[in-house]
Amino acid sequence: MDIMDIDENRLVSPEVSFEDADTEQSLRPRTLEEYIGQEKVKENLKVYIEAAKMRGEPLDHLLLYGPPGLGKTTLSGIIAQEMGVQIRITSGPAIEKPGDLAALLTNLQEGDVLFIDEIHRLSRQVEEVLYPALEDYALDIMIGKGPSAQSIRINLPRFTLVGATTRAGQLTGPLRDRFGVLLKLELYTPDEIAKIVKRSAGILNVPCTAEGAYALAQCARGTPRVANRLLKRARDFAMVMGDGTLNESTAAHALKRMDIDSLGLDTLDRSVMRAIIEMYNGGPVGLETLAAALGEEAITLEDVCEPYLMQMGFLTRTPRGRCVTQLAYEHLGMRHPAPAAQLSLEDLQ
Ligand code: ADP
Repeated sequence: MDIMDIDENRLVSPEVSFEDADTEQSLRPRTLEEYIGQEKVKENLKVYIEAAKMRGEPLDHLLLYGPPGLGKTTLSGIIAQEMGVQIRITSGPAIEKPGDLAALLTNLQEGDVLFIDEIHRLSRQVEEVLYPALEDYALDIMIGKGPSAQSIRINLPRFTLVGATTRAGQLTGPLRDRFGVLLKLELYTPDEIAKIVKRSAGILNVPCTAEGAYALAQCARGTPRVANRLLKRARDFAMVMGDGTLNESTAAHALKRMDIDSLGLDTLDRSVMRAIIEMYNGGPVGLETLAAALGEEAITLEDVCEPYLMQMGFLTRTPRGRCVTQLAYEHLGMRHPAPAAQLSLEDLQ
């Protein structure tokens, strides 16, 4: 089993990687029209934006949640653009002290969007400062120490907080309650991803056939960031191996060379399924135990591998742990153990 040599820079990882940095900006859709898929979210957002504009008020605070790479940062930029305001982008771990948040908030202009990625990672003290800011557009600041300490209130411009998280369940109740709108982003269908690949290929000047785009889309785990990354790698193969056009055969060749199988699973996904089968008889096995066996972080397995393996029907979560399904055995070409023979009354006689 090749579970010990897992590549840390997975091509199909939905997290931002170093190689995304150069194109992430240019590939980002700038308007709701350009933003492909997530129809329900877009329909609702259009109404909220329209209504806020009619009232001449900032948009309600809004929480976007869903796996990484689905377009949360992109959507927050679009919201600012559609509202005609500026956006400030930061993240939960970057706001270390209450003072950091105060500095951000006092620099906002009326109506601005403050985007906090990974908002579930804000510290408690910072969260406490955020509550009055969200509710009353005010900051309560303590001046001095001991008996002479005084609390003063500073008024803030009215702003919109857009929070993004991969795990809505980890948000504290009080913080979650302060969002007026909760929007869940879903994994994209292969058709939607194929449109995203075509659009990105256009921006990157890569000739791309519909079949080529679809071949990549089927392996992109329903995630635009992965699709764009596969496109960039496949472009290299198409240039070196062919005439530069991304068609069905150059896409298939590139995917094979990248060790990504026909369903978009890479070495780590297959290792997860194989470990459950070979070491734990198909499960159930606890997440932490599985992660330790694979030498991976539990959070990586949970955020990155599991959503897709579950969507594909290869993995189930039970109260006692993770189990693989019959489909996983079939996909890996392994034999499913026959169910334990049921003893009937006749056998016992
Ligand atoms: P998240 O913040 O959820 O991790 P991002 O907003 O950074 O994801 O999106 C990752 C990349 O995927 C962006 O560079 C963007 O080009 C692309 N992308 C995301 N959603 C869409 C979409 N709906 N249509 C087209 N491209 C998208």
